[in-house]
Order: sequence, then structure tokens, then C-alpha cells
Amino acid sequence: MNVRSSRQKFKILNLLETESLGLTISQIAEKINLNRNSTARYLEELAEKDLIYKIEKGPTSKLFYPARKSKNFEERNLYMVQFYQLLHSAFFRKYLKDQKIAREIGLDMAKNGASDLYAKQFQSVELNFENITHLAALAVEITYPIANVEAKVALNPEIKNSFFLEIQNCICDGNKDYRSICEIQVGLLKGVIDKFIAPEEVDVKEVECKCDNHPSCKYLITKIDVENERT
Ligand SMILES: [Zn+2]
Repeated sequence: MNVRSSRQKFKILNLLETESLGLTISQIAEKINLNRNSTARYLEELAEKDLIYKIEKGPTSKLFYPARKSKNFEERNLYMVQFYQLLHSAFFRKYLKDQKIAREIGLDMAKNGASDLYAKQFQSVELNFENITHLAALAVEITYPIANVEAKVALNPEIKNSFFLEIQNCICDGNKDYRSICEIQVGLLKGVIDKFIAPEEVDVKEVECKCDNHPSCKYLITKIDVENERT
């Protein structure tokens, strides 16, 4: 799938989200400003993957709907995972294999808004490394793009000032092509937590990933010991 086709498919998904009564191929082609043949081809591909829902009203008349309308909660979550993976590949196609750049994208996202948003939410709380563990988990749970995400935290018994944050139902969904989603998360976590505890900083690493057959994605967050670094 190339960038162009993922962008067009993303446009189609977005459009159908707002049109629960269904649209014909021509209507969709017109609204996304694409020729009818390409539109029809993308629609068939999306329907084949169950990302959208197709009803054939006759040999030449088809209507397309957002798939999630008829889905239960689990199916809807699965749909959201696929939706965000598609979105991710549309935006970051070039960087899908470059984990370093993915991390920088996450850091940028944190700097350009996300960290301010959280810092504001927790304005009245005195934030330091010792009390951010559960706030970090809460921030992940509130903003993660799919429902019923659980972010578990546990102190790291091996290193002082260090904890694990484990994300159940990560949208990488164990698909190695989307490991960059987890690296973006690394950058986001670092950017947001750094802001929480500024001027101190943390180091964030993904230590277990669904992409390596672990049951969840697990991040290790450790405060950078400025004193030790200086010596
Ligand atoms: Zn992961």
C-alpha cells in the first residue's frame, strides 16, 4: 500500500464515519475528489478487510457504511485498532522502519501540546518523580485512542527511581510493521513526564513489545540521575 492509497482510504474511512446512512461510489468519489474507478477499488479493498460495510442493492448499485455501526464493543475496538494503524501508515509511512525518527515524532508531539495539556490538568498537584507513576498511567488511559486500555504501573525493584508502565491492547497489535507506534509512545511518554518533573528528566525504553510475542507493550521509565551523570 503506498502513501497515496492509504491517504485516500483514510479519507474514505473518515467520510463514512459521518455518513451513517451510507453513500454510493459516485457520492464518495465526488466528496473525496477522486475518480470513480479508483474510489471503487479502494472501497472494495476496505470492505474486504471489514473496515467498511457494503450492501449491494443491485448489480450496479452499492452502498457503503462505516463498519462499526453494526459492531459490538470488542469488534469496534478491533476496528479502531485497524483504523489507527491505517492512519499511522498514512502519516508516517516513510518512518515505519525508523524507530529513532518515530521516537522524535513522539517527542515533538509531546512538546507541541500534549505535555502542556497534562501539565494543566494536574496543575494543583505537586509533581515529582515519586508521585507521577499513576498520573502517567492515567494520562495514557485517558488519551489512548481506543477504549478499555489498561495502563498498569509497577515499581522497578532493580533500580531506584524507576518504574514500568505496561499498556494492554496497544494499537501496534503485535504487527511488526507498526512497531513505530510504540516508539512514538516512547517519545510521548518522555516528553510528557519530563514536563511533569522539569527540570529533571527521564529515560524511556520499550522493554517488552507485543511485536515480539509479549502479551502487552511494556515501557521502562527511569529518572536520569543528574548527580551521577556529572561524576
Ligand atoms: Zn509495542
